[in-house]
Amino acid sequence: MIAAGLALFAAAAAAGARYELGYEPVAERMRVRLCIDAAAAVREFRLQRGGADYVEDLRRERGELRPSGEARWRAADWRAGECLTYVAKLGAVVQGRDREVGSRVGEVLLVAPQAWLLQDATTAGGEAVVTMPPDQAFAPPWQELARDGAATRYTIPATPFGWSAMIAVGRFEETRLRVGDSLARLTILGTTTAGQRATLRGWVERALAAAATGYGDLPLPQVQVVLFAGGRRGPAVGFGQSLRGQGNAVHIQVDANASAAALDADWTAVHEFSHWAHPYLGDDGAWLAEGLASYWQYVLRARSGALTPQQAWSELDAGFGRGLRTADDSRSLAELSQAMHARRAYYAVYWSGAAFWLTADVELRKRSGGRIGIDTALQRFHACCLERKREWGAEEFVAKLDALVGSDVLRREYRAFAARRGFPPLDALYARLGLQRDGDALQLADDAPDAAIRDAIVRRRAPPPTERASSQ
Ligand SMILES: [Zn+2]
Repeated sequence: MIAAGLALFAAAAAAGARYELGYEPVAERMRVRLCIDAAAAVREFRLQRGGADYVEDLRRERGELRPSGEARWRAADWRAGECLTYVAKLGAVVQGRDREVGSRVGEVLLVAPQAWLLQDATTAGGEAVVTMPPDQAFAPPWQELARDGAATRYTIPATPFGWSAMIAVGRFEETRLRVGDSLARLTILGTTTAGQRATLRGWVERALAAAATGYGDLPLPQVQVVLFAGGRRGPAVGFGQSLRGQGNAVHIQVDANASAAALDADWTAVHEFSHWAHPYLGDDGAWLAEGLASYWQYVLRARSGALTPQQAWSELDAGFGRGLRTADDSRSLAELSQAMHARRAYYAVYWSGAAFWLTADVELRKRSGGRIGIDTALQRFHACCLERKREWGAEEFVAKLDALVGSDVLRREYRAFAARRGFPPLDALYARLGLQRDGDALQLADDAPDAAIRDAIVRRRAPPPTERASSQ
């Protein structure tokens, strides 16, 4: 199997770090070999704090390697093509209490790579060939390049060291879903029956197809989806989270017993998948990021047919209502966004942000005679900039979107929204779109000046073809 790994590497151009991983399931250990082609006067390797506890038999194949601080090691006079070898004790990684480092989900280990996969301090990312025993699976957020028997070759995207990532290792199946030109790799953890897994897979497929109605494709060539299936008595879908370390992943808690209808009625999956369309925007840009996902969680489900236009606008209206009721008139949206977690100001921040995207979408469509909306701007951002993994400043991001569609709408609205205290007034926009509140109900009036724009935003569109590529 090592031979297969080497053959896979030979096909690649000289990359930065090259990892070979081989798993020993009984001992729950990963054998790691890390080679770097470029010579250097000094190389420093690192893990996150506490990571030294999970590493055993660490040695440099031809030279000295010295500890140089907490979970750091230095190698002087690194020659081209040198390698390190060690054993990573994955079973130990999941023993701690910090779920951000690792946890055990049934028979499966869920481990943060930064805790056990040594990284050269100056070059993030690299390539990896992973060899697994026959009944064992390895599911990282990395980009899969090729599979050859038990060996799989990946690119490890170069993301900032602190960005969260999780890898599942153990006995489970990873389902590969093709959505247009993109590959989604789905892992369902927890105890489930074959029927429950089929229901959950179908829901994820439909949610991915809905996400692809943003602009006809998923925003990224490869994504990872991890479901944590429990037997909880509660909502069909629980907490969802978007992770960006070493690739893009979405983790969602679900009730294994939920019906397809109950799953489809929930917004969480399409919300999380919508986050793939924007870069990481930091705390300053949390209102932009959450606003886009909150706006699209209803718009894209209407485009895919999961909601009627009436339902989608009613849900958006209900969201704006939650934002208005929890608004904070003493702080600007920019300030509230930075303090969102501390002040638990989620509704106000999310729905002020959604109001920004609706306002910008309508304005762009109005000015372009319906040719350009935020989906066009985000599609062009996808083409030029999305795959460069870095944090974008919030204003830098909207300025780029404006430049891509030749407008000043986004930046102008951005400044007005960021500086505003309290919830944005929507009455004028509602009147133009023909959204009329009638008691608790929302009516759609067809004689409003921008009713056609309202209808175009949520009009049904064909999702890209979706197919199950294979299951391992
Ligand atoms: Zn979100």
